[in-house]
Amino acid sequence: MMQAKVSFHKRLKVFLTHLHGDHVLGLPGVLQTMALMDRKEPVQVYGPPGTKEFLICTKETLNFGLTFPVEIYEIIDEGTIVDTEEYNLIAAKSNHAIEGYAYAFVEKPRPGRFFPKKARELGVPVGELWSKLQYGQEITLPHGKTVKPSDVMGPRRAGRKIVYTGDTRPFDGFVKLAAEADLVIHECTFYDSLAEKAELDGHSTPAQAAGEAKAAGAKQLVLTHISARYHDSALLLEQAKKIFANTLVAEDFMEIELPLKEN
Ligand SMILES: [Zn+2]
Ligand SMILES: [Zn+2]
Repeated sequence: MMQAKVSFHKRLKVFLTHLHGDHVLGLPGVLQTMALMDRKEPVQVYGPPGTKEFLICTKETLNFGLTFPVEIYEIIDEGTIVDTEEYNLIAAKSNHAIEGYAYAFVEKPRPGRFFPKKARELGVPVGELWSKLQYGQEITLPHGKTVKPSDVMGPRRAGRKIVYTGDTRPFDGFVKLAAEADLVIHECTFYDSLAEKAELDGHSTPAQAAGEAKAAGAKQLVLTHISARYHDSALLLEQAKKIFANTLVAEDFMEIELPLKEN
């Protein structure tokens, strides 16, 4: 987070896919560092049953104090687990060696593009009235003329959808969870030739991850959780691309831009 220049004071919700060490052991350290930075804002942590015990035990064993509240929510069923004005967070049961959840971040429709030129032409002074229009409110100018948001803005734009699978074999609810997603981040641990091992350990191969993205009608796929046995991800990528062309392998600090769609 320091290297990526992500603030330790930002609004933050953490979603744990499952309670395996490679997915959760970093969290106590992050929380402790936030306390050192004197964070005051609460952090919400969502995860499968056991999440509460894991965090409380770690905190008590390591005996560290926090400067902010940690609110822990254990997920007991699939569906919407967070509903805000800006987005929904949906959980679906994955299919790993232990209980786990995959998550979809589903942004709600966004306001249309704002055209400053049109606002100026209609005589709307820069400032508060501009932001009222941008938030969808009709305004009245000093001389009595009303201006509607649609006079100065384009149509509402569809929100974006990002799906994160965590560790999993291909699973039943995936296509519904990831339907038409702008971005699917799918685990991909072993080469296609190790499909049997992947099945045994609760993981996926490139062909499986790509097949899932294709079935869901996703626009882009990013593979992650590559086994440490592979020093180079070229073959993995090649195997996935045969089925789903718009695929990348995740790298640390990778940034992907998902522009809002203009209707
Ligand atoms: Zn795992
Ligand atoms: Zn893992």
